[in-house]
Amino acid sequence: MEDSSLNNQCLCALLFMFIGDNMNVYYNKLMTLCEKASRKNCVPVSALIVKDNKIISSAYNLRKKTNNILDHAEIISIQKANKKLKTWNLSECEMYVTMKPCEMCMNIINESRIKKIHYLIDNVDYYERKEKDKKNIVFIKEKDYDNMCSNIIKKFFKKIREKD
Ligand SMILES: [Zn+2]
Repeated sequence: MEDSSLNNQCLCALLFMFIGDNMNVYYNKLMTLCEKASRKNCVPVSALIVKDNKIISSAYNLRKKTNNILDHAEIISIQKANKKLKTWNLSECEMYVTMKPCEMCMNIINESRIKKIHYLIDNVDYYERKEKDKKNIVFIKEKDYDNMCSNIIKKFFKKIREKD
């Protein structure tokens, strides 16, 4: 009885060391990537995608450098992981990111099926600003052409069902 409890304690300690070590590697890598973004005059945000304790992809924010609105660290790292794993579905992966993702990235992360996001700092200013910005968007539901579009979608799914 005592032996097995001791064994369990040893196992837990080992597991903790292993996980702890990995975390160190992840966060050190994130900091290195943040420095790179900063040197390129981009807001220093970085992201990693991890599967089975292995880093699948890594990226840092490049929006200002590339003038591409999509070049947030999270989105670049997702695209790299998609390419490497040859799937859009990242449900087996976790994301490590320095800052709580913005809404655009949250949506992409959600679409990618990533279920766990580890983040270091909150992005309070951003979320407060976004709430105000949303009020400036006007949505117009167009009625004249909606049938054309829904027909294409219906046809597509009919074709897929016929294949199954
Ligand atoms: Zn983002």
